[in-house]
Amino acid sequence: MIDLKEQWSNILARLSAVIPRSQFITWFKKTVIMEIDKELLIVGVPIPMGLDWINNHYRDDLLKTIQEFLPQVTALNIQVDTTLNNDEDPRHINQDHFSNKSPSAGRKKPREGEIQLSEGLSTKILDSSYTLSNFVVGSENRLAHAACMAVSGAPGKTYNPLFIYGSTGLGKTHLLQGAGNEILRRDPNKLVIYTTSESFGNDYIDSLAKRKMQQFNNRYRKVDVLIIDDIQFLSGKNKTEEVFFHTFNALYDAGKQVIIASDRPPKELNELDKRLTGRFEMGMICDVQTPDYETKLAILQEKVKKHQIIIDPKVLEFIALNVHHSIRELEGVLLQAIAEAELEHSTPTVRSVENVLRKHNRFGEIVGGSDPSHQGIRGIRTEEELIEAVSRHYDVSSDKVVGPSRKQEIALTRQVAMYMMKRELNYSLERIGEIFGGRNHTTAMHSINNIKSRIKTDVGLRRDINALRKEMGLV
Ligand code: ADP
Ligand code: MG
Repeated sequence: MIDLKEQWSNILARLSAVIPRSQFITWFKKTVIMEIDKELLIVGVPIPMGLDWINNHYRDDLLKTIQEFLPQVTALNIQVDTTLNNDEDPRHINQDHFSNKSPSAGRKKPREGEIQLSEGLSTKILDSSYTLSNFVVGSENRLAHAACMAVSGAPGKTYNPLFIYGSTGLGKTHLLQGAGNEILRRDPNKLVIYTTSESFGNDYIDSLAKRKMQQFNNRYRKVDVLIIDDIQFLSGKNKTEEVFFHTFNALYDAGKQVIIASDRPPKELNELDKRLTGRFEMGMICDVQTPDYETKLAILQEKVKKHQIIIDPKVLEFIALNVHHSIRELEGVLLQAIAEAELEHSTPTVRSVENVLRKHNRFGEIVGGSDPSHQGIRGIRTEEELIEAVSRHYDVSSDKVVGPSRKQEIALTRQVAMYMMKRELNYSLERIGEIFGGRNHTTAMHSINNIKSRIKTDVGLRRDINALRKEMGLV
């Protein structure tokens, strides 16, 4: 039996010598061999972009490298498997291949990307590029960021535990590692452990196998700050969960800081013991939300600064307008646009980014593109156009829509326009409030929520909004 992971590891090690480092890290991270069936080898990639990129640029290099190890392979098939995005997928090869840093000399490395602090106690390596100061703060992550700052300034003394949740790609890991880095910057003698439920479980199992549970407990209890990422993966591992519960209690009682990230709030971690989720609720709970346009733009500017490149602001605006749900994806589009431009010795343009988006965003519409004949981009682009379209549909003048009148049909038109502005242009509540007669952001939020909940029951309203989207060229 060939070990697919080992094969892939060898192949990638060889491939990494022939393609640029940054490209290698961007496109081959979290890829796997899914299957080898005689002459056919199937590679799995975690994101659709990776498929296009590898196909277009590295297919030949990759196949040639594969054949050095597996001469029988003549056909290569690349497939997207988004579950590979999960950091803990057991199919992944050693992610050290993708580290920008050389492994720290002298220290024993028990597992991938980890360092052992003492026997049975390991921490994942904190990425020094994740700091609290290069984390861009907007209304959707302000509280989480502020809480991390507070906790870093006085670990164990302010919010304990600190629990951060939100969907994938919204900055949780960045915040957790940023907090870890900040705590160590202030006091390098602090014992900070950054780990995942899986590594914690592995430490526990190792100790159990070596009959060293007592030492395990003692060691974990010496920790000053315990940071656990992706706690949702503790579900279904009952014994590990129980050990975690005791460790948590011991640390908490000793006034040590615990920081946790999860993809959902404690209440929704249904498979975990209520005793444990109850503890999570004793401290501070913050969420991170999808960023609005301004935050996305600021993040892009930050990343451009980090990569030291010069890019037309229009290009950044265009990316911010068209990537909606995840900052990881936002960064991915930027990096791909840069990488593509580099190959052609140029810089990204709106047109080149449009091509990236088209591949990436298969079913989405693109707004604000360069060529109006492209399908999809005849859609609305500006707030004026949006207000104009909604006013026309409801036959209310646009002055009235942004004016003070509380008359019912005007108020409804206004609420629909606000809702569409959030949904289609992803403007911030502050900005929407401002556009609609200097109202405050809570008014905007109530208006938008009102429409959101009415759509569920009101068929007429739903029809109106669908019609509007059509009129605006969005469907
Ligand atoms: P999560 O852990 O929530 O899935 P990550 O922390 O891994 O998300 O974030 C994905 C990427 O987006 C990282 O490269 C991170 O640096 C970046 N990112 C997320 N939020 C921000 C932010 N507010 N400012 C700067 N970069 C961010
Ligand atoms: Mg994460």
